This record gives sequence, structure tokens and C-alpha cells, in this order.
Amino acid sequence: MVKKLLKWLGLALLALIAVVLFNTFTTKPWPVVATVGNPAPLPDSAVKHLSMAVQIPTVSLNDTAALDTVDLKKFGDFVQSSYPLINTHLNKTLVNKYAFVFKWAGQDTALQPIILMGHYDVVPVEAAVLDKWTAPPFSGLITDSCVWGRGSVDDKASVIAVLEATEALLRKGFVPKRTIYLCFGYDEETNGNGAKAVVAYLQQQHVRAQLVLDEGGEVTEEQTSIVNRPIAVIGVAEKGYASYQLSVEKEGGHSSKPAKETAIDILVTALHKLRSNTPPVKLTAPVSEFIHRVGSSSNSFGFKMASANMWLFSGMVEGALGAKPEGSAMLHTTIVPTIIQTGVKDNVIPSTATAIVNSRILTGETVASVQEYIKNTIQDDRIKIKRVSRFGGDPSAATGVESPAFKRIESAILKNIPDVIPTPYLMIGATDSRAYRSISDGVLNFLPMTDGKGYHGINERLPIRDLQRSINFMMTVMEESVKEF
Ligand SMILES: [Zn+2]
Repeated sequence: MVKKLLKWLGLALLALIAVVLFNTFTTKPWPVVATVGNPAPLPDSAVKHLSMAVQIPTVSLNDTAALDTVDLKKFGDFVQSSYPLINTHLNKTLVNKYAFVFKWAGQDTALQPIILMGHYDVVPVEAAVLDKWTAPPFSGLITDSCVWGRGSVDDKASVIAVLEATEALLRKGFVPKRTIYLCFGYDEETNGNGAKAVVAYLQQQHVRAQLVLDEGGEVTEEQTSIVNRPIAVIGVAEKGYASYQLSVEKEGGHSSKPAKETAIDILVTALHKLRSNTPPVKLTAPVSEFIHRVGSSSNSFGFKMASANMWLFSGMVEGALGAKPEGSAMLHTTIVPTIIQTGVKDNVIPSTATAIVNSRILTGETVASVQEYIKNTIQDDRIKIKRVSRFGGDPSAATGVESPAFKRIESAILKNIPDVIPTPYLMIGATDSRAYRSISDGVLNFLPMTDGKGYHGINERLPIRDLQRSINFMMTVMEESVKEF
């Protein structure tokens, strides 16, 4: 009897191994597509223009600070004087005074327009780390290989790439069949009011866009130890955003005779419970597709086998992806304390303690369901929980890989980046494009720079090669705008 059972078990195991190996060996690497010959050369003025743009310190301070209208106006003057053809041939509207909307009218008004967008405000530079910058952050220094400074990557790279590509196409006499809008915000780094106002304006014009392309995704060569090809990650959805206040009130007193439990103890225990109970893993459609495309081209046999047999190895793949914070953020709703406030004096036990926890919410969950999760995890009615963030909200819808918008961007990527694997991914930060979801089902986040350096940090710089590639890419997107995908 036992022998028979062992025999059956052995056969089942062999069958399982056969299926796993069959799936592994029949999974083809993501196809390599030939790029289109030599890219158009960089316009002479492009590098200088990015440098000039960086030199205008269009810093967004915070939500409530007054706008630096002097520098915003300077940027407007720079666009006016540097792009004569755009200013002659496109229809310019300023929304909220500083957000640009350029309309390049297409010949066929029945076609849904495309929108290429970006923002020209930048985050401040921390005074404490100024001496760590190789070049002063608003110098716009041009070296052989890079343009240096705050905004060179985030996000004047997008704005300049779109403007240069448009100006170059106008010089060539290109006339679009499909209407193209260029939209640039001035306060993305704070509240994105500019983008919201632009969307309201476009709604008034009854614009429904087939594609909205914004910053976000990029090309990575450094994050890919499991595959020897560049990966172009195209943002297709944004996680939700919410902050909650946790507060406790409990009689305090003299620190010489503490009660068994204080307000601080209660709060700390609650935060500890939250941090040690990560919300469960959820494989969303964009992340599954990412695993499929990258896994099928992996040079690691183990990863290729696992990704080809997710029904068996999903735990292993999730473990590998979740090992790094960025990977983990794609698999979970995250919840982390960011502010704690309590106590006034070293010998006084405070009677109140509050904490703010910030959450980035995965598709399928909501601001309300996360609040419920926090309550159920803490299981302590003495803690009051309320939502405190004014902006953000539930996660966005996801743009599908079969949508014309995705196929359009995928095509332009394949034409400009040799050997690349284009793949959808989940944006873990928020951008201006979130507001555009009300006027388009095709919102995507991508610019073809490679492993961008210095986002919000030190030594932000854009390699000139990446500027070249970004301009060519934008030209392809506009030239192919007539094609149906
Ligand atoms: Zn940005």
C-alpha cells in the first residue's frame, strides 16, 4: 500500500517537474525589435536651452507659501524667446497665469488629441548640503556629458524635450493630422493646482485625449541584475495617498510616579503593531505583466522558471521583488509613521500623544479601507483615528497594455532604444497627470532617460545622451500621432 502511494507520489512529482520545465523552456524572451537607424541629431540649441531653463530657479516651496511669480514669469519669457516657431504656429493659452497650454491643431479633428505634459517648477535645495553639489544647483553647468542642476531631470528635462521636438518638427515643415497639446504646470511639487486648472480648461474645450504622457517612468540598466537588457518602465497607474492622525489622551502627571501605561506607551504600541503587520501582498495587473516581461528575458534560470510558473512560485517571486523597498512598495499598501508629537518637559508625563502615518494605497483598496485596516490592526479604542491629508485620495485606474496609448508609447520606445524591454509598472509617487484621468483613459508616465540622477537630491544632472534620446522619442510620438494602434 505504502509502496503504491510512494509510486504515485513519485509520478506526480515527475509530472510537476515536467510541466514546470515545459513552461520555462517554451517561454520566449521579450522580442528584440530593430531600432530605426541613426536618430535625428540633437538641435544645436537644445543643450543650451536646458541649461538656461535650469538657471531660472522656479522653486516650489510649500502648499501655503506665495508663488515666486518673478521666476515663473522669467520662465515664460524664456519659452517665448527660445521657441519662435512654436510661438508662431501653435495657439498659446496661459491658465492660472503660469500654466502653459499650447495647441497644435491637427488636420483631422475627428481624431482624439494627444497631450504631452511636464512641469517646470522644482523642489528647493537643502542649504545644509549645498557644499556637496559638484556645481552650484542653479548654474546649469554644461560639461561634456551632462547638464547639471536642480530641475535638469525633474522635470525640465520633459518640458525641454517636448519643446525642442516640437520646434524641430516645425522646422521640418511637419503638420500633424491629430491635434497635439503641450501642457506644462508650475506647481507640481506642491499642490498641482495648475494641472487641475488646465484640466478644467480642457474640459471646457470638450477635449478627450487618447494619450496623456507625463514624467514618471524611465529606462533602467542599473536595477536589472536579473536581465542583461535595458528595461523601459512605463507608469500606468498611481498608488493612492492618504495620511491619518492617531491620537491618545490619557491623564499624565509627574514622571516620578508613572502609571502602568501612559499616552506615549499606548501610541508606541499601536505604531509597533502597524509596522509589524504589513498589509498583505497583492499582485496587480501592471505588476504581473512586469514580472512576465522581465522574467521571460531573465538570464537567471531560477527567476525565469519562477516567473513562467507563477501558479507554483508566486511566493518566491514576491519575496525576491519585495526584498527592496521599491519592489515591496509595488506589492503592498504601505503605512509608515512620519510625525510624532508629544511631551513638553523631561519630568512631565504628557496627557496626549499623536502620530501621523502616511499610506500609499494599492489598487483595489481605498482611503476608507486603509483606515479600517489601521483600526483593526491596532485594536485599541483609546486611539482616535482620522484622515488628515487634504490632497491625494484613492488609487488611480490603470491604463491597460492593450490600450492605443500604451501601444503608441511602446512603439516609440522600441524605435529609439536598442534591445529594450518596455513594461508597465505602478507609480509609487504622485504626479500632475493624476488630474488628467478625468479627460483620458490613456494616461502614462515615461521619459527615456536612463537611471535619472539626483531627483530631489544632490547633484541632479541629465546626461546629454538622455536629452538627445528624449527629444528623438518625443519626435517619434508626434510623427506617429497619425497612426492608429
Ligand atoms: Zn516631477
